[in-house]
Amino acid sequence: MKHNFLNSIIILILLFFSIQLDAQTNKYTIVIHGGAGGFSKNQSDSIKSLYLNSLKEALKIGEDILKNGGTSLDAVEKVINYLEDNYLFNAGRGAVFTTDGKHELDASIMNGKDLSSGAVAGVTLIKNPISLARLVMEKTDNVLFAGKGADELGIKFGLPVVHNSYFHTDEQYKNFLNGLQKKYAGETVGCVALDNFGNIVAGTSTGGRNYKLPGRVGDSPIIAAGNYADNNTCGISATGIGELFIKHTVAYNISVLMKYKNYTLKQACEEMMYKVLPEGAGGIIAIDKNGNYEMIFTTDAMFRGVANSSGVFEVAIWK
Ligand code: ASP
Repeated sequence: MKHNFLNSIIILILLFFSIQLDAQTNKYTIVIHGGAGGFSKNQSDSIKSLYLNSLKEALKIGEDILKNGGTSLDAVEKVINYLEDNYLFNAGRGAVFTTDGKHELDASIMNGKDLSSGAVAGVTLIKNPISLARLVMEKTDNVLFAGKGADELGIKFGLPVVHNSYFHTDEQYKNFLNGLQKKYAGETVGCVALDNFGNIVAGTSTGGRNYKLPGRVGDSPIIAAGNYADNNTCGISATGIGELFIKHTVAYNISVLMKYKNYTLKQACEEMMYKVLPEGAGGIIAIDKNGNYEMIFTTDAMFRGVANSSGVFEVAIWK
């Protein structure tokens, strides 16, 4: 009898530790994208590695934050700051041009813990729009600021301010001169992270579409279209033809397919990307509350990467 009792205690202790271990696996997951579009496979190896190394570096910034017990909010902001500063991507420096030769930037961030959100559209002077979006989320009672008011808010918050020409790169200037011939989007940036505490945050930042009309706003700063996070379901950041992502409320629909129809993350993402949106519309990155992730696109390429606490660390461009 005594023996049996002791055995049960030992089994209970073992069970407790195995549950603890299980809870610790996949503590964090982070996915990033650097835009979906038509990036030809015939690039030189040096160009390819330039992009792949940048993606690795971005992922490493986020992974380090999460690994050391930081929040998904910090991870998403810092990863996107890096990508905004990196001239290769269409966000911050390296943003596309409007038809009148300027840059108008859009960004949004959302915290799945309480659905708090911040977004900015048509920013022209703030170096890192995602940081402004975060301040909108944390320091105002509002969700979305646009144009002059958004820039002024950034100045008021003391964020780094630059001249609009800071965003200029020769590569995007060439695309601008090609104008309507090169209409595809591409190189928008996004990040979704799940941290130790079970919080999912999604962020997206972009210069929009090449040769866009002044004042045009895409899906990236529209919560529910290009960006969404809910700890009960998942977090999503989108890239592609923004108008399509707005019309089909893509990011929110992925979340509600999971919430009301019990779809898995994979089923929900595939439904929206393969069945609802037309081929070539773009791509999404997503993480669910259990750390499962998806990176789906219907364009030729999507710059992307994933890392998690189980040791996954991968970046890729094509399928
Ligand atoms: N979705 C962005 C927009 O339409 C562009 C992109 O993802 O490249 O503004």
